[in-house]
Amino acid sequence: MAHVLIIGAGGVGSVVAHKCAQVADVFTEITLASRTKQKCDAIAGEIKKRIGRVITTEALDADDVSQTVALIRRIKPDLVLNVALPYQDLPLMDACLEAGVDYLDTANYEPPDEAKFEYKWQWAYQDRFAENNIMALLGSGFDPGVTNVFAAWAMKHHFDEIHQLDIIDCNAGDHGQHFATNFNPEINIREITQRGRYWEHGEWVETDPLSWSMMYDFPEGIGPKKCFLMYHEELESLVQNLKGLKRARFWMTFSEQYLTHLRVLENVGMTRIDPVNYGGQEIIPLKFLKAVLPEPASLGPLTSGKTCIGCLMKGVQNGKEKTLYVYNICSHEAAYNEVGSQAISYTTGVPAMIGAMMMLTGAWKAPGVWNMEQFDPDPFMEALNVHGLPWKAEEL
Ligand code: NDP
Repeated sequence: MAHVLIIGAGGVGSVVAHKCAQVADVFTEITLASRTKQKCDAIAGEIKKRIGRVITTEALDADDVSQTVALIRRIKPDLVLNVALPYQDLPLMDACLEAGVDYLDTANYEPPDEAKFEYKWQWAYQDRFAENNIMALLGSGFDPGVTNVFAAWAMKHHFDEIHQLDIIDCNAGDHGQHFATNFNPEINIREITQRGRYWEHGEWVETDPLSWSMMYDFPEGIGPKKCFLMYHEELESLVQNLKGLKRARFWMTFSEQYLTHLRVLENVGMTRIDPVNYGGQEIIPLKFLKAVLPEPASLGPLTSGKTCIGCLMKGVQNGKEKTLYVYNICSHEAAYNEVGSQAISYTTGVPAMIGAMMMLTGAWKAPGVWNMEQFDPDPFMEALNVHGLPWKAEEL
């Protein structure tokens, strides 16, 4: 018997709410709260139609800690599941501390005025969460999230040491738009325009944004695609928690069309995050750009093709060298048919539900602040197969 409070009613929030509603024996009560209550109500209507369950909706500004604390005290959830934006991570963790409730998210904190993400701000809550006997699970999406669990599972069952880790994220889907992002445009563009960074021999090496690329031949008919080196948040915790790691990198595929649009938008200043005076009013160009781009939640019916996200790992077991590729393929159309969303929202929302299930059933339970690879990967890996994200492990 558990009551989950989901915060954020965007592309990912819709999938999480649907997937929690499907698992009625764990999530006996579901509340969906977000800044715009109509979005919560629309999702609740879809869930009633598709699954036949009634969920409760609330209006909430999650930047306001006292508002969140009041809501938590009123509805008494067992877990706060944050799928709003990374800016809300710290106010929501503060609210959870004050109200004494467990916390989960899918993306690490970013200060709004600096395009930078780091775990240090959230790791700083470790002692306070432990002292209050509550738990925070960080980054329970696909990447971060499932990729951390893939690495932990490989470490547990296939390697004595992993020496090289390449996380490769391929979206081979097509939404037919000139330019659109598959998750929140503001967060997506901030991430992609940053300098690249990878870890080698105990230190971080920086690269110019999207300046390094490789071709990778993806399985199951996707074929060769160009992948670009980027910095991604799971690298920060994995280099601390994975035994023997000598090099860790993250790669993502982008189409030429996407990159050309991004270059033009950057060149004309539309990706800036500092305020600009326009007609006596201060506006942030990237926030304005977000307002005119398609919402990720609207891409569901338009997107076809597949995603393939996985970990390519080289290491040793019993003194022998070994290369293992663990991956999931997700179809945009199948995701849409099941929950009305494209595969990027789906591959984030399903692991968020599974992470919540791990916490609420006690499979993963410890006071403090944790990353995904710090728990036993086995029950999570089993749940991925059951709840819509089956995976494969191939020795290469
Ligand atoms: P959307 O922009 O579609 O949705 C964000 C939602 O959060 C909106 O409903 C928005 O409300 C709401 N929100 C924003 N600010 C507040 C606030 N102050 N209080 C309450 N609600 C607020 O984004 P996505 O659903 O695509 O992404 C959600 C999260 O998932 C992001 O943090 C993203 O980084 C993360 N993510 C993680 C991935 C992973 O694999 N780990 C992959 C993809 C995404 P409104 O509608 O009013 O603006």
